[in-house]
Amino acid sequence: MSDLAAREKLRAVIAELTLRLSDLALVGAGDATAARVQLSATWQKLLPLIEPEAEMPRRACPHCKGSIALLATRCLHCWKTSAPAAQA
Ligand SMILES: [Zn+2]
Repeated sequence: MSDLAAREKLRAVIAELTLRLSDLALVGAGDATAARVQLSATWQKLLPLIEPEAEMPRRACPHCKGSIALLATRCLHCWKTSAPAAQA
């Protein structure tokens, strides 16, 4: 899926989720079962679209021991340079 197509799909699911939430609000104290089921189904559609990327592997900075990206050549904490770790 292209970035543009993915963004369009995300936008569509967010619009649907907004609609489901307002449906649920309108039901008020009445029987909200159907609205809740639809809201849950829409939420399940959204989850795979917003799943965060896997955490980047990290290493400790040899100077300040701060946590930096495995392949970083400069520490974001102390700003000193070091050789990036070999890729696993
Ligand atoms: Zn450092």
